[in-house]
Amino acid sequence: MEPKDRVKELRDLLERYNYEYYQLNASTVSDAEYDRLMNELIELEKQYPDLQSNISPTQRVGGTVASEFKKIPHKRLMLSLANAFSEEDLKDFDRKVREVLNLEKVSYMAEMKIDGLAMSLDYVNGSLNYAATRGDGNIGEDVTQNVITIKTIPVHINTDRPFEVRGEVYMPKASLESLNKEREKNNQPLFANARNAAAGSIRQLDSKIAASRKLEAYWYYFVNANEFGFTKHSEALNYIEKLGFRTNKERRLCQGIDEVLSYIEEYTLKRPNLEYDIDGIVIKVDDITKYDMLGYTSKTPKWAIAYKFPPEEVQTKLEDIVFTVGRTGKITPNAVLSPVRVAGSMIRRATLHNEEFITAKDMMIGDMVIIRKAGDVIPEVVKCLPEKRTGKEIPFQMIEKCPVCGEDLVKIDAMHFCTNPHCDAKHIEGLIHFASRDAMDIDGLGEKIIELLFNEKFINSIPSIYHLYNFRQDIIFMDGFKDKSVDNLIEAIERSKRNSLEKLIFGLGIKEVGEKTAKILARKFRNIDSLMKAEYADLLEISDIGPISASSIFEYFHDENNIKLIEELKQIGLNMNYLGKTATDESSPFYGKTVVLTGTLASMGRKEATELLESLGAKVSGSVSKKTDYVIFGVEAGSKLDKANDLGVNTLDEDSFLALINKNEE
Ligand code: NAD
Repeated sequence: MEPKDRVKELRDLLERYNYEYYQLNASTVSDAEYDRLMNELIELEKQYPDLQSNISPTQRVGGTVASEFKKIPHKRLMLSLANAFSEEDLKDFDRKVREVLNLEKVSYMAEMKIDGLAMSLDYVNGSLNYAATRGDGNIGEDVTQNVITIKTIPVHINTDRPFEVRGEVYMPKASLESLNKEREKNNQPLFANARNAAAGSIRQLDSKIAASRKLEAYWYYFVNANEFGFTKHSEALNYIEKLGFRTNKERRLCQGIDEVLSYIEEYTLKRPNLEYDIDGIVIKVDDITKYDMLGYTSKTPKWAIAYKFPPEEVQTKLEDIVFTVGRTGKITPNAVLSPVRVAGSMIRRATLHNEEFITAKDMMIGDMVIIRKAGDVIPEVVKCLPEKRTGKEIPFQMIEKCPVCGEDLVKIDAMHFCTNPHCDAKHIEGLIHFASRDAMDIDGLGEKIIELLFNEKFINSIPSIYHLYNFRQDIIFMDGFKDKSVDNLIEAIERSKRNSLEKLIFGLGIKEVGEKTAKILARKFRNIDSLMKAEYADLLEISDIGPISASSIFEYFHDENNIKLIEELKQIGLNMNYLGKTATDESSPFYGKTVVLTGTLASMGRKEATELLESLGAKVSGSVSKKTDYVIFGVEAGSKLDKANDLGVNTLDEDSFLALINKNEE
């Protein structure tokens, strides 16, 4: 690949990962993988200065500012930190600092690099003025209401001088564990790590959520140290501690880089016993009067560096290589490993990406391999150890035929694909749709899990989802599953049997039938049998259903396979009735109300609106009087709306009408 193309590819990837990490608080790659890609980009930009750009992720603080928060411009830029991954990187940093300062030895403050969310606290007249996230470094998000739920943060301070402190809001390991237990119980997705959990809790609009999350904070930087007469970072930290800010006691003033290296060695061992997660050690020049001399890049100060711990790696045996087929027909080789514990979980499988990945690493079945896993992301095989071969290893051979349908595979770039449109693997797409939120809403049965269960041959059709409980034991032994998560999944599948008819109609994936049409059909026909008996003309009569949808629905319910499928689902016990509010349901907002329609509604015809209102227990009348409860008006509403206004009758525009209906159906 041309360097310019790789640079573009890397920038796109890093932007995407930044978005996931900073905006969604949910990463799809490990920090180590992110750092590896970032380093590759840094090297390429160094090698090809023509390709440099000031909007490259190498030049900018990665965060974003979400629109739902009030924006706070930082009084001084909130920067990131340069990274060091080895002793050599640290010595290099030290050498540069000593050169600029013309010193033999430098005093460094070594601190825990807590994995949380950077925070700025601004105080005016002895009171907290705001708490802001780092955002893009220039502008942060106002999260004051959430931050003050952390009890150790002082809201009032014994000094009237304005100042700012910065630090890290984090979730202690124990809080994360109990939060995830709770979420597992409630069928909610788990937080992959303490950083995502802390950021996800603070960047919430509802401060009750942050309050319930048992967050903590440490403060590691006094922005106004200079103005307060301090010349040392260590003294400034002691001062803010006296003011009432929680500072981390593990910090140590080190004389020279060798003491820093010993400190890192010590905390590499102590790390598992700390009450919070750290992803590295931050090293700062202690003499703050030298900061301007050392300077800054657009992204980082040159007087500090973050040493990042390497991700945990372990050795195990590559027992076999098996192939899975994705819903696009993509073939992925997977390592079957001798079970091994790494970064807190038991690993049995790891992706091998594609044929080239395996041949480039010269992997043979039976090899000893090094596995790496960081956070909750998919484990990866870093390398194999040919020196440990016994002679019994078997060379790897890429398959030529689809493991599901037997069709010849086609190679496109580095990937192999099964292009047979009738390959069973393609059913995966239908299954993903069926289980999706807007359809049957089976929590825990997302795309990845469906691919996994399909490839293990536990599910292959819609009805087979409802027999998944037969494989409970086998699934528990798969990676990423625990007793509880399998039980939750089975429970969610069972629960889906009780869904209202429109969710099933939508889930069946009938061409031309979106969520809205599914709802219209369910309301109109009330149960699947009536819908199946509907003639083409009956369907066409429904406003909003045109000839193409009508014939697609008609054909679907007259196809022998589909009739069999519905019969099977009935036998399994799926609800086949519309359960929405009905004319006899008193909790409906229109129950017993007299309603007048006027003007043209954009989302439905007059007839459909009348039917809908009647199905909700309303009486639809043609004229407005004092007894009218609501006048629902669309565009070009005429005298009826005027009359309603004259008589003081409640009026609803289309949006308010739909909002009431939707609320009613939640
Ligand atoms: P960083 O996390 O490497 O370092 C800067 C941050 O360290 C500061 O903003 C502060 O929040 C924190 N910090 C903790 N303790 C500190 C202390 N004692 N003193 C000073 N700062 C301290 O930099 P970043 O720009 O926040 O994030 C970049 C890193 O985030 C990457 O190197 C990567 O590890 C991770 N990341 C991962 C993904 C992903 O998809 N996995 C995406 C984006 C970023």
